[in-house]
Amino acid sequence: MYFLGIDLGGTTIKGGIVDKTGNILTQGQVPTRAEAGAEAVLAQIENLTKELKARVGISDGQLRGAGIGIPGSVDVEKGLVRLAPNLHWRNFPLRGKLEKLLGIPVVLDNDAHVAALGEMWQGAGRDYQDILMITIGTGIGSAVILNGQVHRGIFGYGAEMGHVKVEPHGPLCECGGRGCLETLASATAIVRQARQELERGRPSLLRGKETLEARDVLVAAGQGDELAREVLNRAAGYLGIALANAVLLIGPTVVILGGGVAQAGEVILGPLKERFEEALGPWQIKPLPLLLAQLGNKAGFVGAAYLALSFLRGEGK
Ligand SMILES: [Zn+2]
Repeated sequence: MYFLGIDLGGTTIKGGIVDKTGNILTQGQVPTRAEAGAEAVLAQIENLTKELKARVGISDGQLRGAGIGIPGSVDVEKGLVRLAPNLHWRNFPLRGKLEKLLGIPVVLDNDAHVAALGEMWQGAGRDYQDILMITIGTGIGSAVILNGQVHRGIFGYGAEMGHVKVEPHGPLCECGGRGCLETLASATAIVRQARQELERGRPSLLRGKETLEARDVLVAAGQGDELAREVLNRAAGYLGIALANAVLLIGPTVVILGGGVAQAGEVILGPLKERFEEALGPWQIKPLPLLLAQLGNKAGFVGAAYLALSFLRGEGK
């Protein structure tokens, strides 16, 4: 019994065929072609699926279902993509269209949700059922898993930690709010703050770089650059306090940190943990593990395959 997992991103579609114990039989990726319209994206998913199936020689009957992670808000029950700005989709009936195209049951969910399911199934969350996962990349994604189930909440988006307010008069966010965590601690925010500091004329290893990326700031901080360290400490401080607030609210048994920024290691994790523990204070009755995600960019499609598996199991098929 095999399952197809698809991680539909704004620029790349990653996919894999996974068996029921979580072994990845094959994986691949194709460009999304979002600018060419929804039909082109569907054709790309179909092409990738055919290629993956052919590679491992799986017949139609052996592939039982597909799960798809979407960069946006999803109505899981109706199989609708409510809003996916990167794909320019609004109320798009993806499930119906894909079921017709692929000939198997399809389940959709938000990309942060499927990544967390992937980590719970095969990654850092393997031993846990109550998980808070935060992914710090260009934006900030998050998911809460309680009793092994993604918490979707009244609006369907579950946890949106990227838009938790951590600075009352902070920068304006794309969502319209002010001081959202994403505007102060994402890779994008780190770059913006480093630029602002450079404009003040401060000395730094980052000076003179034509294109500045969050990676550059993380590397410079690792080399002891004061400006870079200051920017990262500030971002880590906001992350630490937001995580502590979330932990006080949810009470997870583990926190998983994903995304490129977290993978940079101690330079960001050190100050993050410090601020986190300080904010939790005496409420941290026993040590709460803060673990790095383990699956990297496989988490999405592995979790999507798990979504399909658990859906079909729930349906008794
Ligand atoms: Zn926001």
